[in-house]
Amino acid sequence: MCGIVAYVGGGRALPVLLEGLKRLEYRGYDSAGVAVTSLNEGDVGATSVCRAVGRVSVLEDRLDAGGGDGFDGHLGIAHTRWATHGKVTEANAHPHQGTAEGGANIALVHNGTIENYAALRKLLEKKGHAFTSETDTEVLAKLVAELYDPDNEHALETAVQSALREVTGAYAIAVTCDAEPFTLVAARKGSPLIVGIADGGYVVASDGSAIVSHTSRAVTLDDYQVVRLSAGPANTSGSDKAWAAPLHTTTIDNVKVTHEVTELELELEQIELGGYEHFMLKEIMEQPDSVRTCLRGRVDTRDGRIVLGGLNALSRELVRAKRFILTGQGTAYHAGLIGEYLFEDLAKVPARAVYASEFRYRNPIIEDGSVIVPISQSGETADTLAALQEAKDRGALSLGCVNVVGSTMARETDAGVYLRVGPEIGVASTKAFVGQVAVLTMLALYMGRRRVLAHSSVEDFLTHLDRVPDHIAAIVQQSDEIKQRTADVVDRENWLFLGRGYNYPVALEGALKLKEISYIHAEGMPAAEMKHGPIALIDEGMPVVFIATRGSQYDKVVSNIEEVKARGGRILAVATEGDTDIERYADAVFPVPDVPEPLQPLLTVIPLQLLSYHAAVLRGHDVDKPRNLAKSVTVE
Ligand code: GLU
Repeated sequence: MCGIVAYVGGGRALPVLLEGLKRLEYRGYDSAGVAVTSLNEGDVGATSVCRAVGRVSVLEDRLDAGGGDGFDGHLGIAHTRWATHGKVTEANAHPHQGTAEGGANIALVHNGTIENYAALRKLLEKKGHAFTSETDTEVLAKLVAELYDPDNEHALETAVQSALREVTGAYAIAVTCDAEPFTLVAARKGSPLIVGIADGGYVVASDGSAIVSHTSRAVTLDDYQVVRLSAGPANTSGSDKAWAAPLHTTTIDNVKVTHEVTELELELEQIELGGYEHFMLKEIMEQPDSVRTCLRGRVDTRDGRIVLGGLNALSRELVRAKRFILTGQGTAYHAGLIGEYLFEDLAKVPARAVYASEFRYRNPIIEDGSVIVPISQSGETADTLAALQEAKDRGALSLGCVNVVGSTMARETDAGVYLRVGPEIGVASTKAFVGQVAVLTMLALYMGRRRVLAHSSVEDFLTHLDRVPDHIAAIVQQSDEIKQRTADVVDRENWLFLGRGYNYPVALEGALKLKEISYIHAEGMPAAEMKHGPIALIDEGMPVVFIATRGSQYDKVVSNIEEVKARGGRILAVATEGDTDIERYADAVFPVPDVPEPLQPLLTVIPLQLLSYHAAVLRGHDVDKPRNLAKSVTVE
């Protein structure tokens, strides 16, 4: 969600900012903007701002049209906005500015939401600040300006600290001031921010993808931390080389913090398209490899056990746990629902999947022996982080299921299992979902073996689990066939997705995928639920997708298929390879290899991902930038 890039150093800021914004496009946004501070003789510190509604390319065109005048400085901030307060307009796009007494100009970009902005705005208006936007962010820019005192040694840093002590809400910010043309100040609470330490300068960004082409050395800011970065080109500090002062980190209360420099675990090619038309397709197609990496070293088929190094210290508590709360939003919630089946079925431990947004506010009962499992691709999802905090405060043990290494959730849980599926750029989650399900499957088997499962049955599951990547490789080869079948029904505006047992959450996920990127209205539900109302929707040609693989409820699903068929619905079925019976009912069949029921979701979701992808492309949508959506939802 939204992106921040900022640069200070020996090079020109603008190219770094624009490249970074493009790399962050996948996070989802509706407008973009930059501010660059000049070092030109005669107008040192002058700040040029350019903003535009729409894509980063529109912003670029606008900058080109201006001939780059005023944008050749070495300090700058940039932003892609995902509107929360105020419409999508140029006036609301960031950077926002404020003027301090004495004339210093503050420019600021912000990700997050300021909850007490209305009261602050009134106060600032009384003090004479004139607002030009409807955003909560402008309040922050004006507040920094209001508190800016040029007599302080590090005036901008001090003003930012003071301003942040006044606000409630969530923020990642980058701030500049024309009176300090070599200084960039950044801070965070609740929204992610990373400082890349490059040669002769610093690149600050919302995630590593905007940093990795410059450096892999980085510092991840923690909540309530403020960083002051000073750097500049040759001669600006008497040296004939670009210079950079050591980064200076404090809390918002000005307590000095020692920061840890880490290596970004990100390769450039992982975040590039590599010949695919879209990131979503690339990520679907690379699932055989991503799942293999997720399982590698963890599924020990020889010894018949699951090895999860990150859990060693907590193994006893986990095995004795009385209850698991699996929490997330969207796709991650669906993975949690599958986890609920897996934990109860394989480990015989009570488990509930809950929406994090509901859990956090409902005064939940946390009994002794409860474990909260936050599930999130980014590890930054605001609601899931809040649910984690709520459960921890009430005494629950916490176990993370996240993809991004070093993310807030990864750091704030007692233990965890990384997905290891590599960066996911496509807004509609595919490989992260399968990674989440794979991790939850391993966790269920890990606990199951220690609680109730015989060695031989774990061995049997592991043999099948080990083959899942090969099975996925076979399924993705059906992409063209799935595309053709999708084309037959892609003009229909209402779809149903139905499944039972382990495949009920897969039906939910299939419907969500279709909604997200093709804007087709779709509902997923347990197949049996159809008769309790939704069957009224079925008319001639309505597409109904069944997950109808062989298993304990196969016959029941077939009965549901017949009910739909009798009412003229058009059946698309994900079925077990070699099931010729199903062909009698279904208009299209997408076969998947036969695996035990607990492992089926890892396979049955793949044809549904391809179906949604092709439906969106056939309808002419930009799959990687679906309207209104953001990749990691870092606001409530
Ligand atoms: N709340 C701010 C706005 O609406 C920032 C939104 C964002 O994170 O992009 O402008």
